[in-house]
Amino acid sequence: MSGAKLRNLVIVCGDQLDHDSVAFEGFDPERDAILMTEAAHEATYVWQSKRRIAFFFAAMRQFATAQKRLGRNVLYNHIDDENPPTSLANGLKAAVAQHDPERLMIVQPGDWRVLGDLQAAAGETGLPLTVLQDGHFYTSIAEFEDFSEGRKRFILEDFYRMMRKKTGLLMADGKPVGGEWNYDKSNRKAFGKKGPGLISPRAQYQPDPITVEVLRLVEKRFPDAPGTLDEFGEPVTREDALHALTDFIDNRLRDFGTHQDAMWTGESTLNHSRISAVINLKLISPREAVDAAVAAYEAGVAPLNAVEGFVRQILGWREYIRGIYWTRMPEYADMNVLDAQQDVPDFFWTGETDMACLSDMITRLLRTGYAHHIERLMGMGLFMLMYGAKPYATHDWHMGLYLDAIDWVSLPNMAGMSQHADGGIVGTKPYCATGAYIDRMSNYCGSCRFDPKQSTGDDACPFTTLYWDFLARHEERFNANQRMFLQVRNLRRKDADEVRAIRQKAESLRKP
Ligand SMILES: Cc1cc2nc3c(=O)[nH]c(=O)nc-3n(C[C@H](O)[C@H](O)[C@H](O)COP(=O)(O)OP(=O)(O)OC[C@H]3O[C@@H](n4cnc5c(N)ncnc54)[C@H](O)[C@@H]3O)c2cc1C
Ligand code: SF4
Repeated sequence: MSGAKLRNLVIVCGDQLDHDSVAFEGFDPERDAILMTEAAHEATYVWQSKRRIAFFFAAMRQFATAQKRLGRNVLYNHIDDENPPTSLANGLKAAVAQHDPERLMIVQPGDWRVLGDLQAAAGETGLPLTVLQDGHFYTSIAEFEDFSEGRKRFILEDFYRMMRKKTGLLMADGKPVGGEWNYDKSNRKAFGKKGPGLISPRAQYQPDPITVEVLRLVEKRFPDAPGTLDEFGEPVTREDALHALTDFIDNRLRDFGTHQDAMWTGESTLNHSRISAVINLKLISPREAVDAAVAAYEAGVAPLNAVEGFVRQILGWREYIRGIYWTRMPEYADMNVLDAQQDVPDFFWTGETDMACLSDMITRLLRTGYAHHIERLMGMGLFMLMYGAKPYATHDWHMGLYLDAIDWVSLPNMAGMSQHADGGIVGTKPYCATGAYIDRMSNYCGSCRFDPKQSTGDDACPFTTLYWDFLARHEERFNANQRMFLQVRNLRRKDADEVRAIRQKAESLRKP
């Protein structure tokens, strides 16, 4: 860069590592610069695992290195610099004071709070902050607003069909390929007694010197953070992220559909893609993932139920969740229609519980920063819903432990889909079930000291107890919901003494 005055300062946050970002259109290496800040506040505003902090900082440093290789000027604040800015806002103000740019630019961040903080900081500097629409997603917020406005029925399925028609993905002559929009009924099988069998293990990526440096730094700076950095093999560069996508498409996609909802002791990945973290940091784009899956179907190497299931997750759910976040914030964060007021139980930070299912899921989560969808929804999330944990606290917990958690995606999924705090915006009914669901979809219950069929007594499965208690606590509300009516009817078949005993047992589970 010459001695000319800085024109555009492009702010890039840790979840905006998009080599193809709209912010780089017209980027002039002679007159523009990128600003990146490893802010202590971002690593500590919720209690976060070592793995999550290291994943973000390593990916940021790798991205900055790649941008410098392209000849771009990157102003990078390392957390271990002398007197580094402690927040993104302070990083921005310090860069403006030092480099005196003409304009500030950012692609819409993934967090309402961050957008507000940066807008306020820009205001203090007296410079305009241009917020660019994010080209990474298939839909803009304005399009989502248009779709949702005035609709009586507002559900994922309608949005997804609109997206299929709009993009032409898996469509032929205006109709869905194969004749159905959705192959979910083929995608709910358990593994059976023999288990998942041999599944190609997820590829691991040897940390290079940049990543090794970050791992050392995080271990030293955040020694008390939960989780571990052992066997850190996460993809943190664009090349590795692209490889992780190919690894899934070539080795696991064909069986992704059938056992999508199944769980198994000690197994994290099964046939899932594990691309959510790299897609959310924007190391790869949703189009790259979807196009690769559709190409595998067209080449005859993956069946339709698997490919349609995968496409729906990204083209449907991911875009839908983002639309809900940006059209409902900030009120969405405070929603708590079931008035859930318990703290997140301590064992959610350690995995120390007698429940075989939760012990395994949480221990693996602490080790890997990952759990698949059904473990989140029908394992950990289900327990917290029926236990009555405060929805925003469950989101904070989720933000702390998962590599893929960004505010826009964690909040509607955790507080909305899983905790039903929004009263039916994301899902029309709460996802609630007894231990029998876990028994059917996994091998956990066979080795557990509890019995999924019992709701009272010493052997009672906490899920089963809490399920009936949950229905009883919200009986009137759920009775008015057509999709919950049968569950309430089953509750009403129980005699009053049994319900009283269940509720006492549930209360005892809530006592520390
Ligand atoms: C309680 C709860 C919290 C969740 N929090 C997050 C979160 O913080 N970040 C996150 O990316 N996903 C979240 N999800 C959605 C989903 O569970 C994860 O995206 C998925 O498990 C990631 O694993 P995978 O990459 O192997 O996904 P796969 O099962 O292989 O699915 C493919 C991709 O589809 C997308 N996807 C699927 N479902 C959703 C969804 N509901 N919302 C957004 N994207 C989706 C993801 O990008 C995912 O990588 C949450 C789900 C629940 C029930
Ligand atoms: S019995 Fe209950 S607590 Fe034990 S593994 Fe089964 S569902 Fe989980």
